[in-house]
Amino acid sequence: MDQSIWDKVVAEIDAFQREIRDLRVSPQVTPAEIRAELQRRYDFREPVALETVVTDVMRYLREWNVQVTHPRYFGLFNPSVLPASIVADTLAALYNPQLATWSHAPAANELERRVLDHFSAALGFDPQAIKANFTTGGLEANLSAVICAITRAFPEALETGLAGLPGPSSRPAIYLTGEAHHSFIKIARMTGLGTQALREVPTGEDYRMDVAGLIRQVEADRSNGWTPLMIVGTAGTTGAGLIDPLPEIAAAAERSGAWFHVDAAWGGSAALSPRLKPLLAGIERADSVTWDAHKWLSVPMGAGMFFTRHPETAKAAFAITTTYMPKPADDETPELYATTVQWTRRAIGLKVFMALAELGAGGYAGLIERQAEMGDLIRARLQEKGWMVRNATRLPVVCFTHADIHEGRITTGQILERIYARGKVWISEVVLGGQERVLRACVTSYRTEAADVDCLIDELERVRQER
Ligand SMILES: *Cc1c(COP(=O)(O)O)cnc(C)c1O
Repeated sequence: MDQSIWDKVVAEIDAFQREIRDLRVSPQVTPAEIRAELQRRYDFREPVALETVVTDVMRYLREWNVQVTHPRYFGLFNPSVLPASIVADTLAALYNPQLATWSHAPAANELERRVLDHFSAALGFDPQAIKANFTTGGLEANLSAVICAITRAFPEALETGLAGLPGPSSRPAIYLTGEAHHSFIKIARMTGLGTQALREVPTGEDYRMDVAGLIRQVEADRSNGWTPLMIVGTAGTTGAGLIDPLPEIAAAAERSGAWFHVDAAWGGSAALSPRLKPLLAGIERADSVTWDAHKWLSVPMGAGMFFTRHPETAKAAFAITTTYMPKPADDETPELYATTVQWTRRAIGLKVFMALAELGAGGYAGLIERQAEMGDLIRARLQEKGWMVRNATRLPVVCFTHADIHEGRITTGQILERIYARGKVWISEVVLGGQERVLRACVTSYRTEAADVDCLIDELERVRQER
């Protein structure tokens, strides 16, 4: 390949990171505009020089993209990516290691394992007693947890399916709150549990799980033929960054015999900060944990992680033998294709390894704590200007509203429309507790500075006062 193409890509990697601050955060484009351009330029009848394709794709992604790596993207849990992680994804594409079996990718398998051991210890687990693997994201990790819980509670279901469970007395139930992640709806469908198995537990005024309510509901359900399969505690809810009372849930799960899963897809990264880690107390009692690297660890999608204290259960759940896959290296080295959901497997963890190696544990803690501080600053600045904060968390997600919204002078939707049209910052909205629609600003970029927070507040004040 022509050297000039590589040079172009390297130049863009450099330029984009330098210029991101001055770009619009959100694009202004319609589906029709993009489709017309692509139909005009790419009918695939004649080959197009790679140099031209590269130039086009860079332009498309610069212009027609919500720039989630922008310092003023206060959006969903999509991070700015560290240079080490961009290099790592490039190298993973270059060597294309196949991690399904250890013997095909000894280096990549062990690099991932090194990171997972470090993170297992950060969660308070004994790395030797843990089964951990990278996943495409939080959904796959949550799915892995549900499959493991079914395997432990109903090993016969691996053969008979849930439909083959004896009698109506054993309908498996999963307990979670309305603030838990909606991936469980898909998982209930995919596993054949059905969405009726998702038993919604009440929350308190603070939108965290009401554990007394949980216990009452498990008991009531039992007398109606349900078996408590799993209780999900969320550590860092998607809407409001709240942490369910994990120690109390752990105790309730132990008493009821249910699998205790902690969905810490975003909030799990607090485990790397000595200052924030106490917020996750109780997570070490979980039977399994979901933690995404691609949410708060500043690496590209998709990189989730699944941890379980029950390696034998995971092995039973995903065990498979074939005549065509290579033999395992030894008895202690798990073959990923035979112990996890995925088969063919990319080197997902390489970007986490390289980022962690470059920053060191202290460097990572610093990035996370700085983003938490920016969240504190948003809360303080909003309140100074008369906005009302609706969620109580120390993690950097702020849910807020204003008297003008309450009293019907403007809607959250109108505020968002005006903010997106201006393109200087990006925030979202969420309904809390199934009741109040509020604005939501989350710090997900290690690039966000106090001046970016000022810009967010200025934008909010400006569009609120526009008539
Ligand atoms: C984002 C999120 C998920 C889903 O993770 P993906 O990586 O998007 O698949 C699950 N749970 C929580 C709490 C989340 O915030």
